[in-house]
Amino acid sequence: MNRSIETSKKLFNEAQNYIPGGVNSPVRAFKAVGGDPLFIKSAKGAYMYDEDGNAYYDLINSWGPMIIGHAHPEIESAVREAIGNSLSFGAPNAKEVEIAELITEMVPSIEKVRMVNSGTEATMSAIRLARGYTNRNKIIKMEGCYHGHGDSFLIAAGSGAMTLGTPNSPGVTQGTANDTLTVPFNDLDSVDKLIGETGDDIAAIILEPVAGNMGCVLPNDGYLEGLRRRCDDNGILLIFDEVMTGFRLAPGGAQEVYGVIPDMTTLGKIIGGGMPVGAYGGKKEIMEFVAPTGPVYQAGTLSGNPVAMAAGLAMLNHLKNNPEVYTTLSTLTEKLHIGIQEIHDKKNLPYTINRLGSMISVFFTDKTVTDLETAKTCDAELFGKYFQAMLDEGVYLPPAQYESWFLSYSLKEEDIDKIINAHEKALEKVL
Ligand code: PMP
Repeated sequence: MNRSIETSKKLFNEAQNYIPGGVNSPVRAFKAVGGDPLFIKSAKGAYMYDEDGNAYYDLINSWGPMIIGHAHPEIESAVREAIGNSLSFGAPNAKEVEIAELITEMVPSIEKVRMVNSGTEATMSAIRLARGYTNRNKIIKMEGCYHGHGDSFLIAAGSGAMTLGTPNSPGVTQGTANDTLTVPFNDLDSVDKLIGETGDDIAAIILEPVAGNMGCVLPNDGYLEGLRRRCDDNGILLIFDEVMTGFRLAPGGAQEVYGVIPDMTTLGKIIGGGMPVGAYGGKKEIMEFVAPTGPVYQAGTLSGNPVAMAAGLAMLNHLKNNPEVYTTLSTLTEKLHIGIQEIHDKKNLPYTINRLGSMISVFFTDKTVTDLETAKTCDAELFGKYFQAMLDEGVYLPPAQYESWFLSYSLKEEDIDKIINAHEKALEKVL
């Protein structure tokens, strides 16, 4: 594709005068892949259009939410209708009740749910509640899982026997880091070790049941069940962060797919249909520990916002009533997987592809990727060049090797063929 991105470049230059790094979320600056970020003007169905009028197949879909494609008429009309009744009340509204009922019906672990405004808020609130409910201080998180930018989650693995975490952002105190213990994903032995050392002070284990934030990494057989058992045996709450996987892998998320039911679940992305929404929910007796019924404080001026609820409700109803979304998405993603695999085999190029439902990652490594350490064996530099070449071929991928791609139901089989073709051309250009 002969692409000019002059308008995006100009906007980026201007943006850097007023916005840190020119972006409102770091990954958008394309630091991991080089080049200037694209400024997006509009999106419809499977496509995004930048300010210079270039069209791209969108394989990010707003990092997950746009699972049925951009500007879907059902979501749009629900939002338009809601807007006419004012943008915000700060008081209860009927749509909050409707969406809460629907979530409890769709997500196996959720008996009661509290709406918030982002995935970060959902995870922050969930661990506060877990600590308050269990009267314990520490949490276990898995290396490579991302749970938003709450202080307790910006913690790198520590070294040494005690496995104390260290802040991986200035501004996070060592005091906070001491309460977050980290272990590798898919490693039950490390969890056992921590439980042996500090078991009676561990409030919760939190993880992405299918990780999307070190690229797509699946749980090994028995891993989620093993965590469930260890939590039950030691009075620890199991929290599934399904901000990415919720309503994407199945209407009931990864917990439905794997049949492992956590005590609490955090949600975001799809639940807002593209509006800023998150939620956390779980067992009744745990959720009733939140104010105003319980002592754990959590609140939000815009939580349960009527326009956001209208968008989320339209999205969840659509997914509930159209189960073919999931089967079709799985088939399309499998087609993409096989197409890419054939190209790499033909060219004798190292790769590992991890996939579940409509989440897929192509890792530039020949190692099996089961955790952060193996994910890091990828040739991230090659990925950066490949990413740029894919943009030239009209495909917008997540701008980092360590991200999952998200497909949308707007893609058709012939689009997948074109994306596979683009992949081959992009590789030819960069190798
Ligand atoms: N948890 C997971 C699993 C996520 O993928 C993300 C965001 N990508 C978050 C939490 C944080 O959500 P938000 O960006 O809406 O704060």
